[in-house]
Amino acid sequence: MKPLRALALWVTLGGLSTLALAQAPGAVVLQYHFVAEDTPFSTSVSPARFAEHLDAIEALGAQVLPLQDILATLRAGRTLPEKVVAITFDDAYESIALAAHPRLRARGWPYTIFVNTEPLDQRHGGFLTWDDLRKLVAEGATVGNHGLRHDYMVRGAAVGLPTPESPAYAAYLRKQVAGAQARIDAELGPQPKLFAYPYGEYAPPLERWLAEAGYAAFGQHSGPLWAESPAQALPRFPASGPYGALESLRPKLSMRALAIEHASPEDMRVGDADAAPVFSFALRFPEVHPGPVQCYATGEGAIPTRRNGARITAQAPKALAKGRSRYNCTAQGPDGRWHWVSQPFLRLN
Ligand SMILES: [Zn+2]
Repeated sequence: MKPLRALALWVTLGGLSTLALAQAPGAVVLQYHFVAEDTPFSTSVSPARFAEHLDAIEALGAQVLPLQDILATLRAGRTLPEKVVAITFDDAYESIALAAHPRLRARGWPYTIFVNTEPLDQRHGGFLTWDDLRKLVAEGATVGNHGLRHDYMVRGAAVGLPTPESPAYAAYLRKQVAGAQARIDAELGPQPKLFAYPYGEYAPPLERWLAEAGYAAFGQHSGPLWAESPAQALPRFPASGPYGALESLRPKLSMRALAIEHASPEDMRVGDADAAPVFSFALRFPEVHPGPVQCYATGEGAIPTRRNGARITAQAPKALAKGRSRYNCTAQGPDGRWHWVSQPFLRLN
């Protein structure tokens, strides 16, 4: 997987030293859906809670920056301010304009809305309209791509779509991704090439296609960004439902990425034969993390995590449930802050 910042370029330009890179600030990207009282709990925060989140970000002294600027800074090997947050909304529900936008605009804070274009083109109820989006963009929002439809993009025949490995997949992506981007750009003027995977589900053929087409792409696995985050598997912290509680959100705002390299598996899809997958990676700066690394699996809590020098290997003792789950791995840094990386898994039927 390609990191945001190409290492060769960085070396050529004589950029940050290893130690400086190890300590370089990253960014926390928050993911919201609804900002409303009467929508599903797991994907909602109330307007009052959302306002508390913004207060917490301000109290921390974090700068809220446009997602595309954060990525451009990391890509260029430049240093971000010490504390950076980006705010994103998936699915373009109308509560963004009603409850979120006025609060963000009052602070002059930018944000990104990832939209599916078909519900907008078909004027589905509950969603923003293109006219709404034009107004939000004029007032500081960026619109990213969430696909033409909200497809399970890598589940293949099980959901009536071409499998990512099939010859028909490229044509599907031209419609689903490039087609959606064409609609976005036609309605709103050219927008940055940012993609958010519906349901946070992706696979290597999709990542490669997006990389070749010039998109950065976000999942729904948690963790901060840093310079070498894989550019088509970028993490975000969900900030809705149970994750919307302030005691859940606050520590994440100061979290740093656990810098890793040579991670496997590269594919989040797991079959029945490897339903308790091994997650293995090397610490990029082992000297910064001399202590233990502990991984946790969805529904299983702490799982056996072995360390051999810089190499960390974790495996859940039990098979993962069907559907999506994650391993989260954390270590404490010398700054006392928690460093975090997440690996998503998708166990298909
Ligand atoms: Zn979505």
